[in-house]
Order: sequence, then C-alpha cells, then structure tokens
Amino acid sequence: MVTDLYERIQEGLEEKQKEITEFLETAPETEIEVCLCDDENLVEQHLQVIETSLEKIEDNTLGVCVVCHGYVDNSLLEMDYTAMVCLDHYSDEERRRLESELELSQVVQRALLPQQVPDIRGVELAAFSRPSEIIGGDYFDFFEFRDGTHGLVIADVSGHGVSAGMLMSSLQTAIRTMAPDTDSPAEILERINRFYIHNIHFTTFVTIFLARFDPVTLTLTYVNAGHNPPAVRRKANSSINWLKPTAPAIGLAEEFHARMETIGFSRGDSVLLYTDGVTEVLNFSNEEFGQERLAELVQLHADRSAPDLLQAVRQAVGVFGGDRPLVDDVTMVALKISG
Ligand SMILES: [Zn+2]
Repeated sequence: MVTDLYERIQEGLEEKQKEITEFLETAPETEIEVCLCDDENLVEQHLQVIETSLEKIEDNTLGVCVVCHGYVDNSLLEMDYTAMVCLDHYSDEERRRLESELELSQVVQRALLPQQVPDIRGVELAAFSRPSEIIGGDYFDFFEFRDGTHGLVIADVSGHGVSAGMLMSSLQTAIRTMAPDTDSPAEILERINRFYIHNIHFTTFVTIFLARFDPVTLTLTYVNAGHNPPAVRRKANSSINWLKPTAPAIGLAEEFHARMETIGFSRGDSVLLYTDGVTEVLNFSNEEFGQERLAELVQLHADRSAPDLLQAVRQAVGVFGGDRPLVDDVTMVALKISG
C-alpha cells in the first residue's frame, strides 16, 4: 500500500536525520573532519534534502511526478526517495542506468558472501577481524577488477549490531557486483554513494578504503572515503606515511567526488589498514591508543612477515586495553611487498 511506503520512508528519514545530527554533535572534531574531508557544508546539504523530503511527506507531495503529476513507482521511491519523474518519461539511456541500479538493489538485499584471503603474486597478506558484538559493522574483503588487478577493501559502518552487520554485507555484495565491470575504485564508490545516499533501506553511513593493487607495476590506486588513514612503511628509509581521505564517507555527504591516488611500492614495504576500533581502544586512564602508538608498532615490526606484523599490533592493542571487552569492532589488514 502506498501509505505504508510513505510511513516507512518517513521513519527511515527521521532515523537518518537523528543519526547524522548525533554524529555532528557527538563525534570528535577530528573524526568529523576525516569523515567529511573537511567540508561540513556537504552534510548540511544532505540534512537539507532530508528535511525537504520530510516536509513533502507532510504535504503529500513526495514522489509526485513533475511531468505527469501522478505518483512515481514505489520501487523507484524506495531506492531514491528524491525521485521526481516516472519511469515512463526516462530516456533509454537513463532507463538502462536505472535498471542496473534496481538490479543491484535486489542483489544487495540478498547475498552474504564468504571472505577469503587470496594468493597474490608479489604480496603477502594477513587479515584479522573481531566484532564487539556477534555481528559486526566492520568488514574487509578481497576481489578482482575487470583487468585482473586485485581489489582490497576495508570499511566501517557507523553503529553496531544487526543493522550495521546487514549494511556491511550489502556493501560487500555491492562492491563484488560492480568490481568485474570496472578498473576504477572511484567509479565503484561514486556509484555506491549514489545508491546509498537516498535509499530508504540505508539509514547510516560508512567509511571505506577501497584500493586496486597491480602486482606487475607494484602500485596501489586508492580512494579513501573518510576512513582511518592506512599506514605505509617504506623499507628504504624507514619512513611512515598515511593514506589520508580523498573523499567523504559514503552516505553522509550530498556531493561526492572521489579523488584517486596512486602510490608505488618497493620490495619490503608494508601497509597496515585498520578500523577506528584499533586506534580508539582506551586504557585504564581513558587514554586512546591513537595513531602515534600504531606508527611506532608498525615501524618496530614492519621487517617481519605480514601475519607477524598483524599479530604484534593485535597483541599490543589487547595489552593496552587491559584485555577488557571490546567496545568497537577491531579489524586490520596487513600487506607486505615480497617481490
Ligand atoms: Zn510521470
């Protein structure tokens, strides 16, 4: 029933509004900067769209077609509550694009895929994930792009528990569905943001680091959408640098431009990817573990194997937190260039 759908949209939007407002009010300044790439206007615009849509629900004008003044199709509205044109008025090209989004939307509601650490020539990988509850909001995955290069993703869904876990698995499915059609991490994330931002099933936001590793050129091309910056340790000069955000978090900002960066590696270089559950672990004096301690650990253990580096960080984080129960999911991926 139509009224049913509008009620669900209203509930979803109110939840989203609450979530984003709470984030802006309670998240530490640094986290807001990271999630938004320093531009708070982007989230203001998103809140404005939500506000306008809620008003339209009140006046019964949400989903009214600007061409024929009938109501747009329900399936369209579920996917994008800002839809203002019936399917009938779309061009062939627009319709094709939309159909692919609708298909994706269905695929995303379905599958849960197993995770696997692949065998990639020239690189050693190790991964670890421990949810703070039975179902976590963190995730990492490996997949292949169209050209056979290797995809690597680590992501953190805001919130915990079942809803965060469901969003996480839908995200994994979306990325795996899109990757075989492209070589571009930016293209995937732009599509995902478009798909999630006005979709009524997704009321939260996600930080993602998505990269393509080319074992022939030993390069990593990435987009960091508001995620904690991975640490890169260079063997040649023992330096550490951070792969800072190049795009806002997914589902948070109305405008989304994903800037891709490429870095090259030499033999012996390492990268540690992690979620904020690692750096935000607290000790008994309520001090955060922080990026600096993480950098020291990476420096200290980077000449060991990827699994050893991961194990060392895991242990140090556990000891620092006094082995208390986790308050956030903890996820890490270590990558080491072996040749
Ligand atoms: Zn129409």
